[in-house]
Amino acid sequence: MRLGVPKEVAPGERRVALVPDTVGRLPDGVDVVVEAGAGEESAFADDAYVAAGATLGDPWSADVVAKVAAPTADEAARLRSGQALIGFLDPAANGELFARLAAAGVSAFALEAIPRITRAQPLDALSSQATVAGYKAALLAADRLPRFLPMLSTAAGTIPPAKVLVIGAGVAGLQAIATARRLGAVVSAFDVRPAVAEQVRSLGATFLDLGVVGEETEGGYARELTPEQQAAQQAELQARIPQFDALITTAAIPGRPAPKLVTADAVRGMRPGSVIIDLAAETGGNCELTQRGREIDEGGVTIVGLTNLPSTMPTHASQLLSRNIASLVELLVRDGALAPDWDDEIVNGSCVTRQAVAA
Ligand code: NAD
Repeated sequence: MRLGVPKEVAPGERRVALVPDTVGRLPDGVDVVVEAGAGEESAFADDAYVAAGATLGDPWSADVVAKVAAPTADEAARLRSGQALIGFLDPAANGELFARLAAAGVSAFALEAIPRITRAQPLDALSSQATVAGYKAALLAADRLPRFLPMLSTAAGTIPPAKVLVIGAGVAGLQAIATARRLGAVVSAFDVRPAVAEQVRSLGATFLDLGVVGEETEGGYARELTPEQQAAQQAELQARIPQFDALITTAAIPGRPAPKLVTADAVRGMRPGSVIIDLAAETGGNCELTQRGREIDEGGVTIVGLTNLPSTMPTHASQLLSRNIASLVELLVRDGALAPDWDDEIVNGSCVTRQAVAA
């Protein structure tokens, strides 16, 4: 069986779906074909792939094509019946692409759709990339703030530590908390899932009580708040936000636009020099003023709405993603041939278009 790894073409996408280190970890009988330059942007040279046992060539004729971003129309047109495709295929937005893939007889597996059950943890690409995004969000906050994060006692005076509020303490939020703490900030956090309060405290942060408690779904996600609960949360936050130097917002509801938590009025209440890093910018932003993909100044408050932060740390983001993808490939291959076990909950759950591959 051949596994193809194309060079990503989406603007700003610097990750690669498979790194050289993972080539040797794939099941026996899987040969890897890498497009020349595929790992260049994430600092993996063609030579490293060849040394790991891969060949350089056309990845699109392989039995399985592993990508980071969903294929463009041109890329999708290169796929043929019987092939499989793996990637962040964005199932909520790509109906047209899936119709085309299904008509072409391609079986497509969306990394976002992998059920988040315990057995699927090694495949959990949403978590691995959220870890990178959370870390980077804390670094961006530190970089954009015109002040230190840690407390400093110097001969020239004492500097108090910066105060950081992390809203949404899922995978990205917890990593942002841990990173901001390591840099010396005093960190508070809030999530509508009360179950995370203990994890927040174990990282040395304070869990804010906003008087808003949401529900948790079976998958561990938050349920959307009612409009009344959301208004109460906005009002509570608005009263507290002026105490903080930096906000890192990561709140999300799967398949829904990001909840608006920080109003324009709340931003106006922040001190000049304050910073908001809005990790939810991709799905509309947690702050009313966030502009997707841009960094803006609103009355002295910097609002960072940059998207695809994992791609700004492409080496480790790709390394983690590569292990996630290799774990999925393991479930699709038997005796060196593409033979997905459709009864497997993970295979079935992540499949967004299906052809009777080797059935
Ligand atoms: P996510 O990116 O969908 O959401 C981020 C956070 O935003 C969540 O913690 C959510 O509760 C929070 N949120 C939503 N609305 C909010 C609001 N109005 N105010 C404040 N916070 C709000 O979630 P995620 O980080 O991908 O995952 C969330 C959880 O899913 C994890 O913490 C974990 O419990 C669970 N999970 C389980 C597994 C598993 O294998 N069992 C794997 C990954 C994640």
